[in-house]
Amino acid sequence: MDTERAFYIGRFQPYHMGHHTVIGALSSEVDELIIGVGSAQRSHTVDDPFTAGERVMMISKALSEFSIPFYVIPIEDVEYNSLWTAHVRARVPTFSVVYSNNPLVGRLFEEAGIEVRALPMFRRDVYSGTEIRKRMLEGDSWEELVPACVAKLIHEIDGVGRIRRLAQTDTSMP
Ligand code: NAD
Repeated sequence: MDTERAFYIGRFQPYHMGHHTVIGALSSEVDELIIGVGSAQRSHTVDDPFTAGERVMMISKALSEFSIPFYVIPIEDVEYNSLWTAHVRARVPTFSVVYSNNPLVGRLFEEAGIEVRALPMFRRDVYSGTEIRKRMLEGDSWEELVPACVAKLIHEIDGVGRIRRLAQTDTSMP
């Protein structure tokens, strides 16, 4: 039987327990996983604080918990949505199915003739990059919303200090 290899893309700013729960479920459905780190060119902003390399590390460390073979590949955005699926396919191993709840991602791959499967959402109110970044900015607890290895990495790179600094303006400096 052919290997079923699936593609899953996100910005992972940061990688959180919602992503991790979905990928845990996928690991028993397919044979291999390709994780695309989307908007790879973006970093050092309040909405996209982490570099592609930092996000690759978060995902690779967290996925070592599952026994499925995986590839984590950064993918830069392109101006033309209509060319994006070809751009993705040129950068990653071949795959036969895409898992996504992102409407644009789903539509573009369907138009390219690739099967797209939806996924259950898990505690979207808190397992959300927006919520986690907001908590980091406001000094609230966020560690329980990401895998422990991701929290450790964010502390090591002073991710919270980075977001807070980026949120300042020159008039808020002493
Ligand atoms: P994301 O990290 O917000 O989400 C990734 C996936 O996780 C999505 O399917 C989302 O629905 C799911 N998810 C989020 N919270 C969840 C939860 N609590 N429980 C279960 N699932 C949850 O990333 P995204 O915005 O979907 O990433 C898409 C990427 O593709 C972006 O980087 C975007 O720029 C890129 N893209 C680029 C182009 C282009 O360059 N033209 C076109 C389309 C998409």
